[in-house]
Amino acid sequence: MPRLSLKERIKQSFFLLDGAMGTQLIARGTEAGVCNDYLNIDSADIVFDVHRAYLEAGGDAVITNTFGANRYALARHGFAEEVAGINTAGAEIARRAAGDEKYVLGDIGPSGDFLEPLGSLKPDECKDAFCRQAKALLGGGVDGFIIETMTALDEIEIAIKAVKSVSELPLFASMSFDKAGDDFRTMMGVDVDSAVSKMVSLDVDAVGFNCGTLELDEYVELAGKYVSAVRVLSQDVLVFAEPNAGRPELVDDKAVYKVSPEDFAAAAEKIHSAGVNIIGGCCGTGPGHIEAVAKRLK
Ligand SMILES: [Zn+2]
Repeated sequence: MPRLSLKERIKQSFFLLDGAMGTQLIARGTEAGVCNDYLNIDSADIVFDVHRAYLEAGGDAVITNTFGANRYALARHGFAEEVAGINTAGAEIARRAAGDEKYVLGDIGPSGDFLEPLGSLKPDECKDAFCRQAKALLGGGVDGFIIETMTALDEIEIAIKAVKSVSELPLFASMSFDKAGDDFRTMMGVDVDSAVSKMVSLDVDAVGFNCGTLELDEYVELAGKYVSAVRVLSQDVLVFAEPNAGRPELVDDKAVYKVSPEDFAAAAEKIHSAGVNIIGGCCGTGPGHIEAVAKRLK
């Protein structure tokens, strides 16, 4: 593990995360529609390669290929019993790629279902599922955790509590926003102030936003709102951003992201100026985008 703990490092200076995983896997020949998380077991070399590409582009950390590796999401591919193996393998691959110089964040994504009473998920079972995922990631040697792409407050609260119940390592938590009139809301209707106050109250190290359907200038605006909302509550909690490479356009029924690395880096610089010290990329970003951000901000 790196000499400076992740907690110390993120407070020290600008910290660059990686970009998207899925599109990079496909670019290396994996089939669309397969269980990406299971590639940690049967195609570890490809996952390793993606991590290395981001680190060589200048990233300070890689995020494990475990976004959909909770029991519920894995069950859709018939891998519900493989939670431990897939997560531990994912963390080990990322650790091997990052070595002692760079950092590894264990990725935790949403269950893909709704909690009661809206859906059928029971809170205690959901917490147990996130606990198991976090423990397995911990066993593979992560430096911290990142909970991403959440849209519901009840689910992100459960996920945060689950991770904190198994580890004291730094925790990043992020929700996905869309434009809603003059404002921003998640798919479940959560606004920025509610999202930020919930996450800050649960004592995470960094709160952020990722994914969503926004243009780059809207991500910049969202960054400003986030920083203001956080600073009212805390001077210690950091803010992070993982924008997509702009708003997706549908081409032949596929979401295509057209923002160039240079335009992405220009937006990242504005987001950084707004007070966001940790930046990476979500859908549509690749090593070229991360490299362009590294050149501008490092
Ligand atoms: Zn995304």
